[in-house]
Amino acid sequence: MGTEARKKRAIGAAAAFSSSILADLPDDAGGDGVEPTETVDAARDDALLLDSFFSKPTCLGLALRFPKVWKVEHEEFESSIVCDDGTELKASLIVDASGFTSSFIEYDKPRNVGYQIAHGILAEVDSHPFDLDKMVLMDWRDSHLGNEPYLRANNSKLPTFLYVMPFDSNLVFLEETSLVSRPVLPYMEVKKRMVARLRHLGIRVRTVIEDEKCLIPMGGPLPKIPQSVMAIGGNSGIVHPSTGYTVAQTMAVAPFLAETIAECLGSTRMIRGTPLYHRAWNGLWPVERRLSREFYNFGMETLLKLDLNGTRRFFDAFFELNPYYWQGFLSSRLSLGELLLLGVSLFGKASSPSKLDMVRKCPVPLVKMVGNVALEAI
Ligand SMILES: Cc1cc2nc3c(=O)[nH]c(=O)nc-3n(C[C@H](O)[C@H](O)[C@H](O)COP(=O)(O)OP(=O)(O)OC[C@H]3O[C@@H](n4cnc5c(N)ncnc54)[C@H](O)[C@@H]3O)c2cc1C
Repeated sequence: MGTEARKKRAIGAAAAFSSSILADLPDDAGGDGVEPTETVDAARDDALLLDSFFSKPTCLGLALRFPKVWKVEHEEFESSIVCDDGTELKASLIVDASGFTSSFIEYDKPRNVGYQIAHGILAEVDSHPFDLDKMVLMDWRDSHLGNEPYLRANNSKLPTFLYVMPFDSNLVFLEETSLVSRPVLPYMEVKKRMVARLRHLGIRVRTVIEDEKCLIPMGGPLPKIPQSVMAIGGNSGIVHPSTGYTVAQTMAVAPFLAETIAECLGSTRMIRGTPLYHRAWNGLWPVERRLSREFYNFGMETLLKLDLNGTRRFFDAFFELNPYYWQGFLSSRLSLGELLLLGVSLFGKASSPSKLDMVRKCPVPLVKMVGNVALEAI
């Protein structure tokens, strides 16, 4: 059996559920007899795998089903899921991609997550003041709240920023975002701030083409490692604790996780049960990545303590860093050593009031981070 076929057979012994879709992968799926067709290979090369996945899942030896999973059960070497349509499926490993609210993933510590909340609209407008060739990432100005004392006072304590992506002079995506709050900032408050901001900017909305409510739990402890269900996506702790970004990182780690599962189930040893759960979870969260996540969590805890002025000062220093560092931080690409360098350099670049903020407000999160790092490293 070739390596590819072995991998496919191995993956065939796992079952994944997400997006209300079950990918049912029978033991003999994609074995010797079922090679991916050229169509699927080409599609993969062209990043069109998803289309092929949905239109021709059988090419990959998959059967797609669409019920909701109700129950997950485990035996020593096999798990099964029971669905709301009565279907029962068995697999060596269940991969749960059902999002932040999954009830199938266990935690052994209290989940003290922060929340990113945002209100966004894709709108047709009479006109807008933004450059068409630029996007605005974090506009922390609060001049639009001059006539809104209540909103202004709240914004000074729990600030929100504007994000803008103009498409043309009449079509623009606008989003008012609370980077992180705990407890979560009320959605109505975020909407009111956006209305005040658009009024101040003289933007008259003709039509809201799409609107979105964004609520992303961030940070907090990782799921229990290992456990019998494997998590991927929002339920796996992979969401960036300081930014809320999830999708790119999930896509980046998915192949490694698949590789690990394939190695376990495809090897002649057929690693199953607890050793399989160990390998899969440690493949997703090797020690170095867990330590780095503690640093990102520290970033979130720091942001939670800053008011509007503190946040502005913090980001002034952050975007003064060498782009390699701030870009690497936002995209979770820095090694642990680089993250530590970033921390030192950020402190060095911070203004005196910002340094004071850090010294006064960060010791508790810092001590927690050091404690968690020590526990993880043992
Ligand atoms: C408005 C908005 C904007 C965002 N912008 C960004 C961004 O710019 N960048 C970024 O990285 N992230 C962004 N996020 C966050 C990102 O969308 C989420 O982190 C990501 O979707 C999580 O992916 P997931 O696959 O884990 O879960 P989800 O996308 O929530 O998918 C889970 C799926 O599983 C299904 N499901 C749930 N329970 C079951 C069950 N029992 N059985 C079967 N199926 C089930 C659900 O119906 C759902 O379809 C944004 C989120 C929102 C809401």
